[in-house]
Amino acid sequence: MNKETPMASPAQELAALRERLEQLSFEYYVEDNPSVPDAEYDRLFARAVSLEQAHPELATDDSPTRKVGAPPTGAFASVTHEVAMLSLDNAFDEASLNRFMQRVSERSGHSQLRWCAEPKLDGAAVSILYEKGKLVRAATRGDGYTGEDITSNVRTIKNVPLRLRGDFPQRLEVRGEVFMPLAGFTAYNDNAREQGEKVFANPRNAAAGSLRQLDSRITARRPLQFYAYAMGQVEPERELDDDSHYQRLMQLKAWGLPVCPETRHLSNNQACHDYYTDLMERRDSLKYEIDGVVFKVDAIEVQDALGFVARAPRWAVAYKFPAQEELTWLRGVDFQVGRTGAITPVARLHPVTVAGVTVSNATLHNADEIERLGARIGDRVIVRRAGDVIPQVVGVVLDERPAKTEKIEFPANCPVCDSAVERVEGEAVARCSGGLYCAAQRKQALMHYASRKAMDIDGLGDKLIEILVDRDWVKSPVDLYSLTEHQLASLPRMGQKSAQNLVRAIAKSRKTTLAKFLYSLGIREVGEATAQNLAAHFASLDALMSASVEALQEVPDVGVIVAEHVHSFFREAHNQSVINELIRPRDFGQQGTDAPEHGYVYWPQPKQLSEDEAATLPLADQVFVLTGTLSQMTRDEAKAALLAMGAKVTGSVSAKTTALVAGDKAGSKLTKAESLGVPVMSEQDLVDLLSASNG
Ligand code: NAD
Repeated sequence: MNKETPMASPAQELAALRERLEQLSFEYYVEDNPSVPDAEYDRLFARAVSLEQAHPELATDDSPTRKVGAPPTGAFASVTHEVAMLSLDNAFDEASLNRFMQRVSERSGHSQLRWCAEPKLDGAAVSILYEKGKLVRAATRGDGYTGEDITSNVRTIKNVPLRLRGDFPQRLEVRGEVFMPLAGFTAYNDNAREQGEKVFANPRNAAAGSLRQLDSRITARRPLQFYAYAMGQVEPERELDDDSHYQRLMQLKAWGLPVCPETRHLSNNQACHDYYTDLMERRDSLKYEIDGVVFKVDAIEVQDALGFVARAPRWAVAYKFPAQEELTWLRGVDFQVGRTGAITPVARLHPVTVAGVTVSNATLHNADEIERLGARIGDRVIVRRAGDVIPQVVGVVLDERPAKTEKIEFPANCPVCDSAVERVEGEAVARCSGGLYCAAQRKQALMHYASRKAMDIDGLGDKLIEILVDRDWVKSPVDLYSLTEHQLASLPRMGQKSAQNLVRAIAKSRKTTLAKFLYSLGIREVGEATAQNLAAHFASLDALMSASVEALQEVPDVGVIVAEHVHSFFREAHNQSVINELIRPRDFGQQGTDAPEHGYVYWPQPKQLSEDEAATLPLADQVFVLTGTLSQMTRDEAKAALLAMGAKVTGSVSAKTTALVAGDKAGSKLTKAESLGVPVMSEQDLVDLLSASNG
């Protein structure tokens, strides 16, 4: 134990270790909330074992090295296990696996044994009792002799059968692992993080914590699963007519119990090594977490002859994979800006090997997570690296906090572009608000800007944008408008003709609509429909840019979150200056395709009509709904044309609708119009109506 002085006597060191192990076991088994990684617990445990071996006079029966789990807390009724539910001995490397196999051979007198190989599922052990084929009781392992009655919780696990199939024994106790598959674990934690609720450190704690809920409705909502890996009590015994552990698992399967599909029957020791290597390689592609493999002597007769030691059978071993969680020091925190402006705190760690890889950076997710962890710079932290997932800091060991630590300050300004950092109420993520200007967001912002539904710049694809940004030719959309044919033609794989086409496409795209321009700005949560609503409501960019959060919420479909995003986007000085550069009228001389007074980007201003004028328009007071695909014009164009004639265009059909214009593949709106007796027009009818009204 690293806190002990080297001067401590073995007895003192052992006493301190035992106390620490007891405390850690309590946190782990009772509170489902460990404060150190398993690797650390295992090191302390191994040290205690080696001291007890070196000093047999210090060994005691109540040492944590001889105990399993923890006794029940009293929160649940107790269940006495008729056959003890023990733990497993561990092997952490090939040499110790070989030693185990050697021991088994010597004791059993069999030089070569068959094995049953199973993944070591990382969850919680349960015993499930079936009487006359019906699930009657389920219990945790507890301290191996007494467990907790969790019957109603286990009943909620979807793949645990409530009734057995086939020719089952009168009384059957099944043992196995309840675990939380990785997808469910991630989704659960993501949701909990968003809701500001308790996040589980790993799938094992999630499974154990979910199983031990006092309200089984909560357990029912957790995505738990079960795999059986052993039989406990079976009555009458004679119904088991084979002597192979593997065959017994297959028998359980036949009775309807789920058994892990990775379970294998192996004929020699070498096959066990191969199984381990193969499963370790596939570990990250499994849908559930495993922390090693378990090898069990297959012949039940040999198992019985070998028997048990204090806390584990002699005939099985858990060959552990390299640990996925380790301890290290938090040296500092950097803030990274992602392509969408999300600001992620990244922990700079003292390098540590986790699951075979050196880790020196890990994510801290967001400000809430830092607060939840209570992490400070200088802290002793737990880092987790599982599969392809980015390593993350999952805990702080408060017991080992040094005297001098430093608060982690979340920046108020973007570390890349210095724009204000925005954190919308109710959202965990903080973002840079300099969307159009921030270098970190440049490529993403430009790709969106040029896309078809935005400024629709033909030929300006993602790859080209990457090149233009990497060469520093384009920093914001403003720079697009000064690109020359000559410059573009010098790019790899860009001929004179393509360069010319692109310059033309950029010029052509300059005339747009206010709605499209708004959409192209890439304001968070402002999609096409919201952009249209904003444009229709405010009619002018100036009015929109100066609107308050309250005023913005008067727009249909704009709630407080969208309003805040829009508001802070336009408050950001950098965005204002890019927009101003884009729309500021400038002199294009004779080269421009437009009248010289336009900006790089412009749109026809809707004519402001007085109420009297509006009332005289040909389609005043008429309400249209557009649906399906139109072939002669887009729905936007049809809408604009109708609006220009004084009509209203709404999104849903009601009794007040004058007519529904139904294009191809019209769906529910058409059905609704027909049921309400609302007249239905074809696209051609609309074209005729528009030209008649124009005439
Ligand atoms: P274990 O997890 O090492 O092994 C025994 C358990 O493995 C069984 O009870 C069963 O639940 C499970 N298991 C999974 N697949 C199995 C299979 N196919 N066949 C049989 N069993 C299977 O033992 P344990 O006694 O539950 O706990 C010890 C572990 O808990 C150690 O890894 C230790 O690091 C960890 N621990 C950690 C802390 C901490 O503070 N971090 C504290 C206590 C214990």
